Amino acid sequence: MEARQLLQLMIHSVYSNKDVFLRELVSNASDALDKLRLEKLRDDSLDADVADLHIEIDIDDDARTLTVRDNGIGMSYDEVGQLIGTIANSGTAKFLQELREAKDAARAEGLIGQFGVGFYSGFMVADEVTLVTRRAGEALGTRWTSRGEDTYTLEPVPDAPQGTSVTLHLKPADPENQLHDYTSPWKIREIIKRYSDFITWPIRMVPERSGAADESGENDEAPAPETLNSMKALWARSRDEVSDDEYHELYKHIGHDWRDPLETIRLQAEGTFEYQALLFLPAHAPHDLFTRDFKRGVQLYVRRVFIMDDCEALLPPYLRFVKGVVDAADLSLNVSREILQQDRHIEMMRRRLTKKVLSTVKDMMTKDQDRYATFWREFGPVLKEGLVTDAENRDAVLALASFASTHHDSVPTTLQQYVERMKDGQDDIYYLTGESRQSIENSPHMEAFRDRGIEVLLLTDAVDEVWADTVGEYEGKKLRSVAKGQIRLDTEDDDTADGEREKQTEEYAGLLGWMTEQLDEDIKEVRLSSRLTVSPACVVSDAGDLTPALENMYRAMGQ
Ligand code: ADP
Ligand code: MG
Repeated sequence: MEARQLLQLMIHSVYSNKDVFLRELVSNASDALDKLRLEKLRDDSLDADVADLHIEIDIDDDARTLTVRDNGIGMSYDEVGQLIGTIANSGTAKFLQELREAKDAARAEGLIGQFGVGFYSGFMVADEVTLVTRRAGEALGTRWTSRGEDTYTLEPVPDAPQGTSVTLHLKPADPENQLHDYTSPWKIREIIKRYSDFITWPIRMVPERSGAADESGENDEAPAPETLNSMKALWARSRDEVSDDEYHELYKHIGHDWRDPLETIRLQAEGTFEYQALLFLPAHAPHDLFTRDFKRGVQLYVRRVFIMDDCEALLPPYLRFVKGVVDAADLSLNVSREILQQDRHIEMMRRRLTKKVLSTVKDMMTKDQDRYATFWREFGPVLKEGLVTDAENRDAVLALASFASTHHDSVPTTLQQYVERMKDGQDDIYYLTGESRQSIENSPHMEAFRDRGIEVLLLTDAVDEVWADTVGEYEGKKLRSVAKGQIRLDTEDDDTADGEREKQTEEYAGLLGWMTEQLDEDIKEVRLSSRLTVSPACVVSDAGDLTPALENMYRAMGQ
């Protein structure tokens, strides 16, 4: 498949509506303005003009072009190559290969999500795209041109203005295929209103200089530009004034996602420390959620002014997938990350926001099982980290958790449900960790439990090695790994069982001693066991021993 086909495939599987190309370009322009404002705030000597930061849309009917321009941070020559010129690079070839091998649609969608096609969505409506940009503080600009094929051109431009302009050479309108006439000011107004109204920078459209006015020969004055967006912060408006669609568009902008969020969470805190929060639970876990450089955190605003992206002080690491905006009334505009980490009010905010997110999931669990199931499938493995790291909310997280179990092939169980099903005389909650459900079910440790019809939780996430030990028990029932320590299953008849075991141990003492000696290097002890019914022997850890995965995890958490 060539790059052009790939591009079409990606774009069409991501966007059902071609109008959204404009949303993507405006979203990038808005990010670029945010970045410039911040950089200038940090470094006053930066040679950039921040007096009138804005986005401008220019239509040229005759040339059939549409230009989105911003006077933001811009890109260096190298950045254009890396960030924009990627369609023809080797990463794309690899991506293409993976996409072809992806068996199911969900996997393909995940891959496309990783790739990020925001900028390239312009090729849905244009057959050629030209980008001219200059990085703030640099003298030389760059021009990039591509027809969406394997190649692009990249050249230095001596006199580029500050920021970035993206010019689309529009395809002929084709309304039957949702390809509208994007030289129509009316259409542009409609799209901006619909998808980008909340953008905090003015989006201006320069009305066309009409040829007719030239008759007088005095039409040198440019017509006044029209601002298309209201710039109203959605989080500052009352709930019934804002539609779900509007919230979703904001999520797509700040979450760099093209899909709707799973849940929108609003919180208004009044009183001495006033703030508003608008948080989103995404519907899909990003691919890099468990990597070291995952950008976590929400956006921080102070009285409608954007202060920082990825503000990690506002939510604990195990809620790092939550996106959104927090707007605090009483913070300093040049507050730093270091200060935020230590601020008492921020600490209070974090606790409140954490509880709010957890209670929202709890609501989902009781009111909308399907949504909860989606949420837990995507984010359960992260949320469970909270069982280890957040003692204060441990019970709340535990109440939200569900686990695969031998009770059902595909429906997970909560601990509550497990406890309700426990057999008479069963005191403990049993679990086994492993690579996959199948490998756990095939483990010899499972035999006795299967025979006796005792339910076992089947835990396959890395974090499962850790939390069960930390949590220890649920409603007075111990959490016990079926692979660790002595497990006594025939509880009704303890005394006889003990007597019997003693007799047998005596009888087999010679054999057990010999085996212990032979295996001395690898094991601590050989004992008789009632846990096996088919396999002759199995290896068991001591109740207190760390598994290798567990050791790694503790190290990663700095303990
Ligand atoms: P995303 O916005 O999710 O990062 P895009 O494909 O929309 O993905 O954009 C890719 C990258 O190109 C952006 O992350 C940004 O670094 C850069 N970029 C795009 N448009 C602009 C712009 N107008 N100004 C500065 N940088 C831009
Ligand atoms: Mg983008």
